[in-house]
Amino acid sequence: MASELEPEVQAIDRSLLECSAEETAAKWLQATDLTSEVYQHLAYYVPKIYCRGPNPVPQKEDALVQRILLGPMEWYLCGEDPAFGFAKLEQANKPSHLCGRVFKVGEPTYSCRDCAVDPTCVLCMECFLASVHRDHRYRMTTSGGGGFCDCGDTEAWKVGPHCQKHGPNPSEMEEEEDPLVHLSEDMIARTYNIFAIMFRYAVEILTWEKESELPADLEMAEKRDTYYCMLFNDEVHTYEQVIFTLQKAVNCTQKEAISFATTVDRDGRRSVRYGDFQYCEQAKSVIVRNTSRQTKPLKVQVMHSSIVAHQNFGLKLLSWLGSIIGYSDGLRRILCQVGLQEGPDGENCSLVDRLMLNDSQLWKGARSVYHQLFMSSLLMDLKYKKLFAIRFAKNYERLQSDYVTDDHDREFSVADLSVQIFTVPSLARMLITEENLMTVIMTTFMGHLRPRDAQGRLQFERYTALQAFKFRRVQSLILDLKYVLISKPTEWSEELRQKFLEGFDAFLELLRCMQGMDPITRQVGQHIEMEPEWEAAFTLQMKLTHVISMMQDWCALDEKVLIEAYKRCLAVLAQCHSGFTDSEQPVTLSICGHSVETIRYCVSQEKVSIHLPVSRLLAGLHVLLSKSEAAHKCPELLPLSELSPPMLIEHPLRCFVLCAQVHAGMWRRNGFSLVNQIYYYHNVKCRREMFDKDVVMLQTGVSMMDPNHFLMIMLSRFELYQIFSTPEYGKRFSSETAHKDVVHQNNTLIEEMLYLIIMLVGERFNRGVGQVSATDEIRREIIHQLSIRPMAHSELVKSLPEDENKETGMESVIETVAHFRKPGLTGRGMYELKPECAKEFNLYFYHFSRAEQSKAEEAQRKLKRQNREDTALPPPVLPPFCPLFASLVNILQCDVMLCIMGTILQWAVEHNGYAWSESMLQRVLHLIGMALQEEKQHLENVAEEHVVTFTFSQKISRPGDAPNNSPSILAMLETLQNAPYLELHKDMIRWILKTFNTIKKIRERSSTSPVAETEGSILEEYLRDKDKAERKRKAEIARLRREKIMAQMSEMQRHFIDENRELFQQTLELDASTSTASESSPMVSDLVLTALGPAQTRVPEQRQFVTCILCQEEQEVKVESRAMVLAAFVQRSTVLSKDRRKCVQDPEKYDPLFMHPDLSCGTHTGSCGHVMHAHCWQRYFDSVQAKEQRRQQRLRLHTSYDVENGEFLCPLCERLSNTVIPLLLPPRKIFNSRLNFSDQPDLTEWVRTISQQTTALQGLRKEESSPHPASSENPENKEKVRLPEGFRPDFHPKNPYSKSIKEMLRTFGTATYKVGLKVHPNEEDPRVPIVCWGSCAYTIQSLERVLSDEDKPLFGPLPCRLDDCLRSLTRFAAAHWTVSSLSVVQGHFCKLFTSLVPGDSPGELPCILDVDMFHLLVGLVLSFPALQCQDFSGISLGTGDLHIFHLVTMAHIIQILLTSCTEENGMDQEEPPGEEESAALSLYNTLREHTGSALKETPSGWHLCRSIRAGIMPFLKCSALFFHYLNGVPSPPEVQVTGTSHFEHLCNYLCLPSNLIRLFEENSEIMNSLIKSWCHHKEVKRFLAGERDAISYPREPNRLLDLPQDYSNLINQASNFSCPKSGGDKSRAPTLCLVCGALLCSQSYCCQTELDGEDVGACTAHTDSCGCGVGVFLRVRECQVLFLAGKTKGCFYAPPYLDDYGETDQGLRRGNPLHLCAERFQKIQKLWQQHSVTEEIGHAQEANQTLVGIDWQHL
Ligand SMILES: [Zn+2]
Ligand SMILES: [Zn+2]
Ligand SMILES: [Zn+2]
Ligand SMILES: [Zn+2]
Ligand SMILES: [Zn+2]
Ligand SMILES: [Zn+2]
Ligand SMILES: [Zn+2]
Repeated sequence: MASELEPEVQAIDRSLLECSAEETAAKWLQATDLTSEVYQHLAYYVPKIYCRGPNPVPQKEDALVQRILLGPMEWYLCGEDPAFGFAKLEQANKPSHLCGRVFKVGEPTYSCRDCAVDPTCVLCMECFLASVHRDHRYRMTTSGGGGFCDCGDTEAWKVGPHCQKHGPNPSEMEEEEDPLVHLSEDMIARTYNIFAIMFRYAVEILTWEKESELPADLEMAEKRDTYYCMLFNDEVHTYEQVIFTLQKAVNCTQKEAISFATTVDRDGRRSVRYGDFQYCEQAKSVIVRNTSRQTKPLKVQVMHSSIVAHQNFGLKLLSWLGSIIGYSDGLRRILCQVGLQEGPDGENCSLVDRLMLNDSQLWKGARSVYHQLFMSSLLMDLKYKKLFAIRFAKNYERLQSDYVTDDHDREFSVADLSVQIFTVPSLARMLITEENLMTVIMTTFMGHLRPRDAQGRLQFERYTALQAFKFRRVQSLILDLKYVLISKPTEWSEELRQKFLEGFDAFLELLRCMQGMDPITRQVGQHIEMEPEWEAAFTLQMKLTHVISMMQDWCALDEKVLIEAYKRCLAVLAQCHSGFTDSEQPVTLSICGHSVETIRYCVSQEKVSIHLPVSRLLAGLHVLLSKSEAAHKCPELLPLSELSPPMLIEHPLRCFVLCAQVHAGMWRRNGFSLVNQIYYYHNVKCRREMFDKDVVMLQTGVSMMDPNHFLMIMLSRFELYQIFSTPEYGKRFSSETAHKDVVHQNNTLIEEMLYLIIMLVGERFNRGVGQVSATDEIRREIIHQLSIRPMAHSELVKSLPEDENKETGMESVIETVAHFRKPGLTGRGMYELKPECAKEFNLYFYHFSRAEQSKAEEAQRKLKRQNREDTALPPPVLPPFCPLFASLVNILQCDVMLCIMGTILQWAVEHNGYAWSESMLQRVLHLIGMALQEEKQHLENVAEEHVVTFTFSQKISRPGDAPNNSPSILAMLETLQNAPYLELHKDMIRWILKTFNTIKKIRERSSTSPVAETEGSILEEYLRDKDKAERKRKAEIARLRREKIMAQMSEMQRHFIDENRELFQQTLELDASTSTASESSPMVSDLVLTALGPAQTRVPEQRQFVTCILCQEEQEVKVESRAMVLAAFVQRSTVLSKDRRKCVQDPEKYDPLFMHPDLSCGTHTGSCGHVMHAHCWQRYFDSVQAKEQRRQQRLRLHTSYDVENGEFLCPLCERLSNTVIPLLLPPRKIFNSRLNFSDQPDLTEWVRTISQQTTALQGLRKEESSPHPASSENPENKEKVRLPEGFRPDFHPKNPYSKSIKEMLRTFGTATYKVGLKVHPNEEDPRVPIVCWGSCAYTIQSLERVLSDEDKPLFGPLPCRLDDCLRSLTRFAAAHWTVSSLSVVQGHFCKLFTSLVPGDSPGELPCILDVDMFHLLVGLVLSFPALQCQDFSGISLGTGDLHIFHLVTMAHIIQILLTSCTEENGMDQEEPPGEEESAALSLYNTLREHTGSALKETPSGWHLCRSIRAGIMPFLKCSALFFHYLNGVPSPPEVQVTGTSHFEHLCNYLCLPSNLIRLFEENSEIMNSLIKSWCHHKEVKRFLAGERDAISYPREPNRLLDLPQDYSNLINQASNFSCPKSGGDKSRAPTLCLVCGALLCSQSYCCQTELDGEDVGACTAHTDSCGCGVGVFLRVRECQVLFLAGKTKGCFYAPPYLDDYGETDQGLRRGNPLHLCAERFQKIQKLWQQHSVTEEIGHAQEANQTLVGIDWQHL
């Protein structure tokens, strides 16, 4: 279709190009009616440029628009060439000091916790780095898009409002000047004209609602009737639904549908079909039909193409205006003026108003364009910002209502601009006084809250789905109210007072609607049928929490306001309670001669609500009054006279009773909704304005009442009045054993009631209640949190309430109460309570949950035991109450209280007769303790002549009155302290008695009245004796404990030796074997150990016994016995790769024989080292397979391993495995144990013999494959191939291995082949042995790399599993030829050999620059037996090994000389050239000869030697490991420790001269010709001519990406990254590959690609090429490491970034600055280098099953 249109478009272009911007502008300048002139121009051209086909062509459109439409405007505006005009404007401009940078999605933003006026004040990264705040406590977040940098806004920052760049010029500090003075009159007039016309045009066309008709002045004569079917975005339908529908409706591919859907989601609309009206209408009806089933249909319009064209240009125009005003503040001001100018129709018709009011009608893309324009114009101009704010406030109700009914997210609504306006303190204040903003917001909000009940209370359970939806959206208004209140006034005008109180009234009205909402009734008999809706009410409460607090803060600032607010609040409360006492029968309660009247009310039978915001607000205001000056100076001014204490306490008390009853299990049938409500009532998010305020309200009420009255009312509400008012009631009660439940219930209720009394008297850490400072409250909060256990910073923050600025105030006090313990390699930093703070611990701290309380109790007792103190946890000393609350303490010593205490103690004394509980007693003891502490405080602080009226100690010494004559409380305590059943409370009782005596002494000292002294001293003496006895007892216990520990220690030691017997034995065995070694060859005991060659150290046979982990049977590893195997995991790897772009195109045809030195893709084998019988494993694996098949049928669950791919978990350690390696003896010994080198050929001779043999073999091979099969039978033909002496190609050796071992050799070989080449298994494939050798070589190389990287010795103590794995792998690879076709292995050997020793017919073999020498060595050595076994001339395997090794070593040296000696490293040589140096020099010169001097000028011999040694070291180390495992010769002790270079030891071990050049000298005869032939390879020549690259040695180690110290650098980098596929769109989940540094657009439709026929996300696709299936990523937005393996496996891992408190921040929720932790990064790097990523994923998935269910391939 596109091609058909092509010529037409071309033709139009030509006609358009004739239009000149300059001429058009000139015409306009002459015009009398500029508007119609411009409109004609637009009417003609716009439809010619835009919308010429089904798809937009942005580049072409933009070019044409600039030339034909915008160009003339720019010429007109400047009156000259805009290139000069704009430059001049820019020069003349005096920019304002605002940064105003509009944030992109994901861009980092910074806020200063010390200086920002509120948390919405943020800086862009650039400004932040240049500001003073970078050294303050800052917070970092990522922007959700929208919003701008507040740098330069003096109202946003308390200190340092400007960064260095936006700092004010000191020379021009004068008043705000009009920016228009910098522009000429003409310019102003022209700008005004053109802005007015264009702005109006844009607004008109964007808000145009007709679908096929243009505004009259834009209609054109000739009209092509083409239409678009325009699909609009909504937030109801999912991506998948839209994609599916589109495929059906417009018949497009899935790819196209995805692209349409992506654009619709991003821009808000996209045309999905282009053509005549009918054609579009048809698509529309299909879409509507398909999407209307469950929800409202997708919005689709059929629009005339010219309308779409004008709308597209309208948007372009708005962006253009935004960029033009960037040149000059003057232009910006003109635009603002144009925008806010009242139109001819009066109110609400300025262009800005029209846009705002049409906001919800516009599509997403249009909205964001004009919002951006508003931000860069109106909000950047201080004068117009104010005018705009007023317009915004005037339209507020309408805008918010539009938003509530619209379905787009708030960030796409103009209503969201409120944050930009309301958070400016001066604007907010102005809007409150002039526009009555608070009231406006409140009434708008209230207007959306329906329905309500008869009393006008909210009823959320009656909400329909639509109302609930609206309710969710309308909540953002609360946020607006919060913005308005966030900065508090410093001075009050009469107007402000009045308007604030008006707003306060509106707010009270909301609270009144909430007071008593969602009431509940206890269910008896049966469960409730449906869980009632409770979340909505709590959401509202939670959102309001900060607003309520801020309302109080505002009131606190002005006494007049406070008193007025108090009165109004009280009035509303009274209104809520009207009818409170009516219709109720009053009842009279009396105990101990006190009596009170109250209403009859039972929480367990009548309605009760947990929502009491009005009384709670009143409680808050009451505390403020108590804190105010008026309370001290003239309390009579306070409006307290109208208070009715019983009314105040009634509802909060019911709340407490409700909680107690729920806890006692009485409300079980009410379901979870109630449990949740109770939970949130106490939760840190709500409690400040719920639970806490209820405590205060009760305290307020009680402080104004007779405490006896209060206690009686409380007993009655708790439904416990009977128990305590009737003597002997308890006894009768307990005898009713049938009611166990009731007994338990009542016990719990009593406990809860006592707890409440403790809280009422004890909770004074609230300014206004107690005499405390502002930090005391938070300090106490922290002490109690840390009493539970040490906590990380974030845990602590979570447990503390945050204020509206998200501050807890913790930083100011944490140092005084806690020590910080740094984090280790895992875990996080912890705060620990300072020991001296323990005495402030209150067991009944009111914010403890029950679980926390018991944990804290246990922890504190344990601590005391550790410090060898008694374990009593007495109440702490408390600060005194404020005067208004002072009478509260009397509750402790009032008669009813003493009666309650006495009753419970009595129960405990006669412990069998009553139903009582220990916690009940514990609480009573605590209360007694509190009373004694109180009295002691009073006595100590009492001023002269004052009488202490608090006489608790005297009251408890008095026995009870007749008739029961109960003993005194003191006496009962004395009795109880010896009670054997109260062991746990003994220390506490003793503490009470001690304190009692102290008080008595103080009283005696101060008073003249003699008290019975003897009694006291007797008691004291008695106590002293008891103390002594106790100490003795404790000492004895301690001794016993010590003895027990000693015994345990020695037991553990014995156990350890048992456990590690194997280890101890191994060392013994090794010692023994060294001494028994004999024969002529050197022994192990000799200091010089040699791994190969004539001097190879003879190692005596070591019998190896292993135990199968499955059947526990022990077996010896032998050639002929059943196979034993190790669980193993084979994986492809690019960890060592030097070229990640390389990838195998066609694995079926790929020839892996020669490994390229870039090691671009290797095969790694790992193992956990656990041994099994082959048959045991087979059985195990079969059962896993069967189980898995059953499971998959049953529940389509995934596992962490893929059975179909042969994966399983090691049955012992659960490590992921995919095959097994057989355990073998050193294979060399089986075939040829002869080590006598006396008659062996030297290298030259050997090479000659082998060449002959290989030539003969190749000849034979050719014959076999010749077209005359019969000829091979013919002995005469054989004669043609001259067979070297003693060579018998027809000989086939017998395979020595048992059947089961052979089978395992094949199994592992095939598995390695399958994984390594990513092909289907094929046992017969000739590449199987190659891949096995390759895996052996690669695994050794990667181990060498890891060891060197960590500076560890080559043969240092390796983990057992690594050692076992390498040994088995090497021996397996060496034995594998026995199960392969002999001729295939021989063929490989011939090819490998020929690459070094070219034969007569050099095929296409790689040059020595393109061969990894270690892989070559391993291949040659391991394939050699296949040739040698047919050689009967007497050449031994050992000889071959040695010569092959020497040959490869020399080739490697030449490789190094050719590639790696070119640069002088500047170091001067230290000594005169020695033998080695001159030899190296002459070798180099030989090389130069052969290469025709293409090599560089000779460096110094010293430099050459250094280069060779450095370059060859990794090869030597790998070779040492290889021969060590192959031949089983122990490693030389020198190489087992770290230290200086082990070059010489390695040479000795490997049978090399330490002057390596001597190898060449010794074999000069053959080497000269070999070097010559190597150098003459055409690739070598190309390299020397600079036509290609080659790897140089030593290869640089591969590490993960270097990460920046500061995490925000990464965020910034990622925010600049846009999706590579969807045209400059920001990526939502930018993800960094830590291996190669690529940034990817992860987890998104746009970047899905196809991999093996499946759609996968960018990370999985990248992993396939970059890491051969293993990926290590950092998800930048989430600050989370991602491990991927294959398509199905993955896990998240802790990021290497920590905040100052030693914690990671996964998800970036906390926003503390994050810095790189090198150790943790090192750990991730190690996982990668050691090929343990897949294993780590396996473990993570086993530990957390939810990880298995994630679709990792979509990331
Ligand atoms: Zn900035
Ligand atoms: Zn700045
Ligand atoms: Zn700061
Ligand atoms: Zn077994
Ligand atoms: Zn294992
Ligand atoms: Zn990568
Ligand atoms: Zn993308």
